[in-house]
Amino acid sequence: MSSKKILFLNWKANPSSLKETEVLVETTNHLALLVKDKLDVIIAPPPVYLLPLNHSLTSGIQLASQTVDVTTNGPHTGSIYPALLKENNIGITLVAHSEDRAKKQLTSEQISDLLDACLKNNLKAVLCVGEHQKGDEAIKEITQDLDLILDPIITKYPTSFITSAIDIAYEPLWAIGAQKILDLSYITTQLLAIKEYLIAKLTSSPRLFYGGSVDRSSLKQILDIPEVDGVLIGERSAQKEWLEELFQSVI
Ligand code: PEP
Repeated sequence: MSSKKILFLNWKANPSSLKETEVLVETTNHLALLVKDKLDVIIAPPPVYLLPLNHSLTSGIQLASQTVDVTTNGPHTGSIYPALLKENNIGITLVAHSEDRAKKQLTSEQISDLLDACLKNNLKAVLCVGEHQKGDEAIKEITQDLDLILDPIITKYPTSFITSAIDIAYEPLWAIGAQKILDLSYITTQLLAIKEYLIAKLTSSPRLFYGGSVDRSSLKQILDIPEVDGVLIGERSAQKEWLEELFQSVI
């Protein structure tokens, strides 16, 4: 496994045309080359661009889906399922991003089923977890959610397989899209507690990412936290100039 850290760009519902997306991808290809010794870059564009972009990526950038909604094919209008992504050479997906959870009112049990379907199809799942409110109760909220998601999975797969098949993204809800000034000490404490929980649960820890309000002033500091294997960045990374400044901060 690569020891490089991950920069995961979740473009959400941006940009609004294929042409603009291709320009952004060209910029990202160029920037990814400049950091290739330190970082692996993953892009999650809007779903309709996944297939056209599969042909225009260079420099080792990988593509990810922003969601899986259902476990299999069938009468599920508007849905994406793991086997569909694998069939189309998309090897990674976010699972249960907080915006996805809120929109679809996903329960932890439903998320567990989606994760199971990813594992069955050898689709790398980046499982998003995070507390609603910053504070002492946060770790309890996260581990209760993770218990409900992971317990059924642990009965079906060896923990060594689970650890390599999923990444955990710690994304506190209060930080997502909020452009907060980050409290590194709080984030580090949370990451340490999550890692400790994961090791107790799975014997070793999956890769652990952080996401929420990261920008050019905080990216390097977050990447330098030993528990962090990667960073997720939201829709600001779909703005060319903002993205260039972000990469400049780690070159
Ligand atoms: C996200 O939505 O996954 C995210 C990290 O958003 P932002 O960078 O905008 O906080």
